[in-house]
Amino acid sequence: MERVDVAIVGGGPAGTSAAHAAAEHGADALVLEKGVPRADREGLGPDSTDAAGILDYWVDIMGIHPDEMPDGVVQNVLDRAEFRGPTTACNLRSTGIESSYDEFGYTFHRARFDDFLRSRAEEAGAHYRVEASVTAVDADRDGHPRHVLTLASGEEVGADHLLLCDGPQRTVTMNVLDEFLPEHRAASQVLSPPTANHIAYQEYRKFPEEIYQQVQDAIVFWWGLMPGHTAYPWIFPNRDRVCRVGLTMPIGMDIDAVEARDSYDLLHPEDDRIPQARRTSSACSNASTATSTS
Ligand SMILES: Cc1cc2nc3c(=O)[nH]c(=O)nc-3n(C[C@H](O)[C@H](O)[C@H](O)COP(=O)(O)OP(=O)(O)OC[C@H]3O[C@@H](n4cnc5c(N)ncnc54)[C@H](O)[C@@H]3O)c2cc1C
Repeated sequence: MERVDVAIVGGGPAGTSAAHAAAEHGADALVLEKGVPRADREGLGPDSTDAAGILDYWVDIMGIHPDEMPDGVVQNVLDRAEFRGPTTACNLRSTGIESSYDEFGYTFHRARFDDFLRSRAEEAGAHYRVEASVTAVDADRDGHPRHVLTLASGEEVGADHLLLCDGPQRTVTMNVLDEFLPEHRAASQVLSPPTANHIAYQEYRKFPEEIYQQVQDAIVFWWGLMPGHTAYPWIFPNRDRVCRVGLTMPIGMDIDAVEARDSYDLLHPEDDRIPQARRTSSACSNASTATSTS
C-alpha cells in the first residue's frame, strides 16, 4: 500500500491549495483527482465547471495576485456587479471590504486557473494523480496509517492526514462524516439540504458587439425571470466577445408546481422542464463548457 503524510481527495482549487500548503511545509502530499474531460482542456483534469469570478478581497484571501498567473487565466477586469430585477436595478461598485487589489474583481478561465494551481502545488513538491477516483475512506484514529483510501482501481493509499476537497457534491465527504455523526443525522441533511442548494447550467457564448460592450466590465445577475427564490441567470464576461452565461436554480424544483408561469420571462407556459442552454445536459455538466458562437 502506498503511504503518504497527507492525502487529498479532489484536485480543484481547494485540493491543490491544500496540497501546496502541505508540500511547502515539508509534508509528502498526494492529490487524488477522479478526472473529467472538458472541451477546453487537453486530457482529463479537475472538474473546473463553476463560473469563474473573483472579487477584490478574495485576492488577499487567496494570497495570489492575478499578475502572478500565466497569460490567458485572467479574462476581464471588472468594475461592478449589476443586479437587474423586473422593476428595479442596482450597480455595486465596491465590496466595501479593504483589499490590496485595486479593481472591483476579475473573471478568469476556470480550467486554466485550476491547471495553474495544480502546477503551483507540484512545484512545491506535491504529487497530483488524475484518474484516481476515491470510492471509500476508512478512518481509524489509532491506526497506522489513520486513513486508508480505496480507489476505483482497487488500489489503496494510506495517509496520516486526510483532506476532503471533493467539491459541492461531497460524495466522499458525506460518507466520511456520517461515521462521526449521531445515527439519526446524516451529513447529507446538513451539507446538501435540497431546499437551499443550487444547480446551474452554463456555457460560453459569443455576444454581438453592442451587447458585449454593455457587459464587458460587469458581472450581471438577474432575478424575477425564473421561478424559485434562488433562481438567477447571470453573465460573466470573458475575452473577445465571449461570455460565460448560466442559470442557477434551486435543486429539484418541480416546474409543474409553479404558479403564474407566464409572469416569468424565461419560462414559457408550454415548457415541460426547466429551460436548458442549447448544448447543455444537466447541472454542472462539462458539456456545458462547449463554446457556442450564436
Ligand atoms: C453555479 C456556481 C457558480 C459559482 N461561481 C463561482 C465564482 O464565480 N467564483 C468562485 O470563486 N466560486 C464560484 N463557485 C463556487 C465554486 O464551486 C468554488 O469556487 C470552487 O469550485 C470550489 O473548489 P473546490 O476545490 O472546493 O471544488 P471543485 O472545484 O468542485 O473540485 C472538486 C474536485 O473533486 C473531484 N472529485 C469529486 N469526487 C471525487 C472522488 N470521489 N475522487 C476523486 N476526486 C473527486 C472533482 O472531480 C473536482 O475536480 C460557484 C459554484 C456554483 C455551483
